[in-house]
Amino acid sequence: MSKGAVIVTGASRGIGEAIARELAAEGYDLALVARSADKLEALAVELNGATTCLALPGDISDWGDVQRIVEEVKTKFGAVYGLVNNAGVTRDGLLMRMSPENWQAPLDVNLNGTFYFTRAVTPLMMRAREGRIVNITSVIGLTGNAGQANYAASKAGIIALTKSVAKELGGRGVTSNAVAPGFISTDMTVDLPEKVQAEMLSQIPLKRFGEGKDVAGVVKFLLSPEASYITGQTLVVDGGMIG
Ligand code: NAP
Repeated sequence: MSKGAVIVTGASRGIGEAIARELAAEGYDLALVARSADKLEALAVELNGATTCLALPGDISDWGDVQRIVEEVKTKFGAVYGLVNNAGVTRDGLLMRMSPENWQAPLDVNLNGTFYFTRAVTPLMMRAREGRIVNITSVIGLTGNAGQANYAASKAGIIALTKSVAKELGGRGVTSNAVAPGFISTDMTVDLPEKVQAEMLSQIPLKRFGEGKDVAGVVKFLLSPEASYITGQTLVVDGGMIG
């Protein structure tokens, strides 16, 4: 029997795909969201089995797309138990050369997308008097980083949103937490110059880069009954990098 329906954004690859695999194995119905319809469809077909897995392509920075997707989830599953806001983008560059467009892009996807999905599922979770919201932020949202002012601002915004939602919805049985990964090996990090990667590795006490499943396990925990008294928190998953 299904443990409930969970929406996972950015499920077409990387950390989001790892989260989808982990949650399907755990017995959740899934609604997978990203822009690449083909990749989503292939993953949904693969994960369909004991539970139902739907591919729902769309752009999370588009409020209309988000409303349509949540309507489809409601029609198919009736309720939404969990929301994992994972989709994210970077537009790295030094502040003095950053165009307003490059400043805006991570805010549109990372922060607005997280707000749009949270906003759209909130009435359903409040009515059910239960729900779990897990937002994927970043250690950069806690520390800041040269060359990532836009991304850092979007990820810090997610942490503040997470805490506010925890305060606003706690009385309705809805928890809201964030997970802050450090350096995880995915498409987002694969193109970083070798020198930068070596420098980062030297700062990780556990002496390895993280994998998608390191983050996925923590998301699974935050959706579990064992985490029912945790809300408003940011769990850092970085091999000890920021200390
Ligand atoms: P990734 O491999 O680049 O994957 C990003 C995912 O987001 C893809 O599925 C992508 O799918 C989706 N996406 C991007 N823009 C979207 C949009 N406008 N609408 C819908 N989906 C969109 O990145 P990742 O490394 O797995 O990162 C996942 C999350 O973890 C991000 O929030 C990232 O900031 C965070 N994070 C990553 C690291 C790391 O080291 N990798 C560290 C800290 C935090 P489509 O392209 O198909 O739309």
